[in-house]
This record gives sequence, structure tokens and C-alpha cells, in this order.
Amino acid sequence: MGFRTIRGTRDILPDESYEWEFVENQIRAWFRRFNYREIQTPAFEETTLFARGIGQLTDIVSKEMYTFEDRGGTSLTLKPEMTASVIRAFIQHHLGSSAPLTKLFYISPMFRQERPQAGRLRQFHQFGAEALGSAHPEIDAEVILLATSIYASFGLEKTVLKLTSVGCEKCRPGYKKILQEALRSVVDRLTADSQRRVDENPMRVLDSKEPQDRAATANVPLVKDHLCPECSDHFRELQSLLTKTGVAFEIDGRLVRGLDYYTKTAFELVSGDLGSQDALAGGGRYDLLAQELGGSPAPGIGFAAGIERLLVVLEKRSLFRGEAPHATVFVATLNGEAREDAFRLLQELRQSGISAEMDFHRRSLKAQMREAGRQRADAVVLLGGDEWKTGLVALRDMRNGEQRQIPKEELADSLLRMIG
Ligand code: AMP
Repeated sequence: MGFRTIRGTRDILPDESYEWEFVENQIRAWFRRFNYREIQTPAFEETTLFARGIGQLTDIVSKEMYTFEDRGGTSLTLKPEMTASVIRAFIQHHLGSSAPLTKLFYISPMFRQERPQAGRLRQFHQFGAEALGSAHPEIDAEVILLATSIYASFGLEKTVLKLTSVGCEKCRPGYKKILQEALRSVVDRLTADSQRRVDENPMRVLDSKEPQDRAATANVPLVKDHLCPECSDHFRELQSLLTKTGVAFEIDGRLVRGLDYYTKTAFELVSGDLGSQDALAGGGRYDLLAQELGGSPAPGIGFAAGIERLLVVLEKRSLFRGEAPHATVFVATLNGEAREDAFRLLQELRQSGISAEMDFHRRSLKAQMREAGRQRADAVVLLGGDEWKTGLVALRDMRNGEQRQIPKEELADSLLRMIG
């Protein structure tokens, strides 16, 4: 018996947490290079924020949210994604009033009650960016480059970028009618799920992964071929910018993305190493969202990426370059008299910026040396209890076994030199 993690959630244990640290540090460095600033938002928000910001018809809102009533009777939801929360904060704190462009990034846990399967967790982590204030394709290209640069820096140059335009409020309604007509003519050949979507959310039929739906819709018209002149120009200019900066992409007219609020640009980064849940990251433009959430108009574009899926791919390709951290110096004692001095020295070393450890079981020297080895310490400082007389301590380099006596005052400097 005993308590266990809830289905779809995971502990991140010390042996993997350094991988997380390595990955997060590198991601942060890229956000800084692109001049994005970090934002953190609460784990839960009013349910209506997500219902409105993501869309009632999406899978997330209709069946995946962790929604609960608090003791005051307010309906709250654990955040299933960040864009709605970021826009809420952008409006609430008037972030748009101090600069023409607001560039934000986040790294945060998300919560969705999905059917647990490989690559799908109920608490997972995303990093992502949102750029608010510009309607021009340069910023679309920047956000895409930011995402692709991050993956390339981990050694994942072969990640496939799928790109399309989903149109805007001017061209999409007309296209939806054309699509619905086309879908009605093949409706008997669609899966039950897709049949239901023909009326309420026809574009979602296009991104169904079911072979039956794929076959039935092989020849239906795609929105990228029915764009208004403005969307069409935007899409063309974006492609040109990407080509100029050497970013390879595939146009995928079936890419719809789950969320209702996308306008114009939509994209996804996929990896062949992930099986059926192959999306590493996804994003797009959402020019109407700020208004939808009660703010002034503010065009925006962003992306969100799964950290667990990135880790899976890095693991599979053996691309980790980080090293598990360990204490660099072990302070050992020859006898009980030296123990208090050892404890004080431990604190002095730590204060000089050296990661240090000692034995907390009052064990023999032999056992302490074994422990130092087990912990892969680079060096051992040996105290015998008469250092106050001689002023010398024994320092052993664990990598070559060499041992020498050095003046106690020089210990920190010697250690720092030794471990580089
Ligand atoms: P989405 O917000 O659904 O577009 O997801 C963006 C990215 O987050 C995906 O490409 C995945 O990498 C990751 N992701 C989404 N849902 C999950 C989940 N349930 N478990 C793990 N990763 C997820």
C-alpha cells in the first residue's frame, strides 16, 4: 500500500533533476538572447478565463481541464496552457502601455486531465514565449526562430517545422462554409468523432490522425488556399523571412492546432523520435485574443513547448551534455578530536564557494574514504586533530591519489586551483 503519485503525474528525482536544470538553463539563455523577459503566473485562474481564451469547442476546455469550486463557490481551473494567463496579466498590468512590443517567456507546469499514455501527462511542463504588440511577419519569424534555435542548440537540427496560415476573421468564415460543404459530401466515410465536428468545428476534422478521416478528406479544400489578400501577403512574407534566415519548413495545410484563437500563422515542431505524440512544440498568431479577454486590441504570436518530450528525445539520441552534480571536496577525519574542526572547515569551504561534504555517521577513516569515493569527490581534506599546532592539512587529489601537506590558509585557493 502506501501513497503514490497520482496517475499521469511524475516525481522528478535527483538523478534526473540535473538534466532539467541543464535544459532549463540553456532555454533561459536563448530567451535572454532574443530579449524575452520572464513572466510567472499563478497555478490557477478563473475558469472563464480559459473557457474564453482557449475556446469552448476545444478538447482542452471541453474535456481536459482540472476545474473545481473553491470554498467561496468560485469556479477555478489549474492552468492547462499559458497564453490566456499571459494575456490576462498583460491586460491587468497594462504591460503594453510602456513599450510598443512586449516580449515574454515562461517555464511552468501545466495541468490537463488527458488519457494517460506515452508522451501525455496530466501535469507536464512547458516553456514558451509570447510577443504582443506587432502584427508584422518579422515577429512571427522571430518567434519561430527562437523555437528552432533552442532545439538546434540541443543538437536537434532535424526537427521538422510545419507551417501554415489559418486565415483571419475576414477569410475564415467563407472558407469554413466551403469546407463544410466538402465534408458533408464525404460525411459517411468519416469517423464518429469527425462527423460530430463537421457542424461545430469543421477545421478540426483536418488534423484528425485517423487513417479513415485522412483518406476521406484527401481532396477537401485547405484554408491556406483560401486566404484574403492580407493573410496571403503575411504568409508569403513570413516564408521569405524564414528562407532568408536558413530555416527549413514544410507547408502543412492540414495543420489546425487545437486552440480556437489562432489567426494567420500556425506552426508545429515535430520529431520522428516521439511516436504518435510527435509534437515537440506548437504556436501561432492570435490577433483577437486580447480583445476577447477584455483588453484593447493587441496582436500577438507565441509558442509553447513540452519539456518532458524534449527530454525524451535528448535521452533517445544520447544528447545530454550535462554532468550529474556532486560535492567536490570531502572533509575526512582521522579521529574524534578532529571532528569539530572538520565541521568548521566544512562551513569555511562552502563559504569560499566550494561544494563540500563530510561524514555524518562518525565512521572510521576507511569508511569515510569509501564514502568520498562513492560520492565521486575530486579531493579529500584529511584532518588529524593537530592542525592547530602544525598549521598544515593533508589534501588528497582523488583523481590521481597524490597527497600533500599544505598550510591551512592556502587550502581554499589550492582546492579552487585543483578543481579548476
Ligand atoms: P499545446 O499547448 O497542446 O499546443 O502543447 C504544446 C506542447 O506541449 C506539445 O507540443 C507537447 O510538447 C507539450 N504537451 C502538451 N500536452 C502535453 C501532455 N499532456 N503531456 C506532455 N506534454 C504535453
